[in-house]
Amino acid sequence: LKLLLEGNQRFVAGKLEHPNQTPARRAEVAKGQHPFAAVLACSDSRTPPEIIFDRGLGDLFVVRVAGNVADRVVIESLDYSVKHLGVRVVMVLGHRRCGAVIAAVEGHEEEEKDVGPMLKELDPAVAATKGMPGDPVENAVRANVRLVMLNLATSSELRAMVISGELKIVGGIYDLDTGTIEMLRAKE
Ligand SMILES: [Zn+2]
Repeated sequence: LKLLLEGNQRFVAGKLEHPNQTPARRAEVAKGQHPFAAVLACSDSRTPPEIIFDRGLGDLFVVRVAGNVADRVVIESLDYSVKHLGVRVVMVLGHRRCGAVIAAVEGHEEEEKDVGPMLKELDPAVAATKGMPGDPVENAVRANVRLVMLNLATSSELRAMVISGELKIVGGIYDLDTGTIEMLRAKE
């Protein structure tokens, strides 16, 4: 987590080091990968983890899906990084003005019943924040990261390692304007 946040500080300040992007590193990790963290991020083209955390090859195990939701396939992917690659921190990374969340908020307002699987995953966050003061998209983005953290921490795959303290699930919100990441606590 420290490495992630330090890399993000370099990115924010425009002092990129581009670590682990050399041919030597490529050769090193071709033999096997030991990423130090997993990141579940949105597919949004403005939120690529390797860039916003200033990291390179073999550093991050990344799952990206619109709205950074955790369905069974996503959980299984993250579980692989934990059980087989030795990852001990998983960051759920939402971002401000997320298009998937905007669609979910608007869909919810229209009370569409027949939404696709991605909006269905986002619906609990939208429902939980409906009528809350403040911006509905911003509220749902935050609620979604917390719900996904909870889904991961209570999943049959990861639960035991979270309880024993071997695995840390953390959450953050990426700010598209400043490049900063605000860390979220699991509960408000
Ligand atoms: Zn997004």
